[in-house]
Amino acid sequence: MSLPCPHCQRPLTPGDRFCTACGSSLLLEVAPGSTEPTCAVHPRMKGLGVCSRCGAFACANCLHANPQGLAICASCHAREPDVLLPWDRREELGTFKAFYKTCVEVLLRPGPTFSESRTEGTVGSSLLFSLMCGFLAFFTTGIVYAVFFGAMSMALPSDTGKGPSPSEFRWIMVAMMGAWIILAPVMAVVTTVVNAAIDHLVLRMCGVTRGFQVTLRANALSQAPYALGVVPVCGAQVAPVWTMVARVFAYRGQHRTTWGVAALGALLAPMATLCLCGSAYVAMLVFIMNNKA
Ligand SMILES: [Zn+2]
Ligand SMILES: [Zn+2]
Ligand SMILES: [Zn+2]
Repeated sequence: MSLPCPHCQRPLTPGDRFCTACGSSLLLEVAPGSTEPTCAVHPRMKGLGVCSRCGAFACANCLHANPQGLAICASCHAREPDVLLPWDRREELGTFKAFYKTCVEVLLRPGPTFSESRTEGTVGSSLLFSLMCGFLAFFTTGIVYAVFFGAMSMALPSDTGKGPSPSEFRWIMVAMMGAWIILAPVMAVVTTVVNAAIDHLVLRMCGVTRGFQVTLRANALSQAPYALGVVPVCGAQVAPVWTMVARVFAYRGQHRTTWGVAALGALLAPMATLCLCGSAYVAMLVFIMNNKA
């Protein structure tokens, strides 16, 4: 639905103060007693267009264009900045560029990235993002191991008569690495769905109203630090911590909720798991010590 100029009827861009075709001002006052629709915020101004989000009339000063070029009113614009992430512009940018650009935004400015960006995304697009993060994280680790085992197989005595020969050993390693590189990202996607489901339960109990897709999307996008897996060794240590921090930002921004709720949603389940594993470990130690005595 395009917005026509009240003078020349040619289509306007929401946000313009003047018509670019006929040059007339779009800020029009209504005559007293007129039944013309007026701006919901400025009752003396003519309602130039209707907000595509809430349906309220808005004057030229109050109209904004959302990323799709549709007219939205000032209060909807303020409440729900609807910036498209590079990831949401995959068709235009190409999947790899969109992925890379989204990772950079999540890593460098998680606050505005999550609180200003659109919150809807298909399950498929979220899972694809976590698959790519998983692939990047595990791919390099796999290569490092493959090189390591490859070198080891060279060092094996060439003919011992028992066990696999060096070339067999090499092929087994290659097959294992291949399986690792393919299976690990799949596991990462399954983990994403399970983690998002648990986090979503916590968020719902804290009063969050948006759907599971939002949590899934936030969870997937917050895995961007795993793209650091391309920097072997360093990435493996930094990424999990950075991901947790990014996830708090992601839940806060995408669910438009408070820091407290977002932190609970992002950290409660991992912390509980950590405590459970920790206490199981301590219990095991105590058990071993007691049996030794
Ligand atoms: Zn005009
Ligand atoms: Zn509106
Ligand atoms: Zn207005």
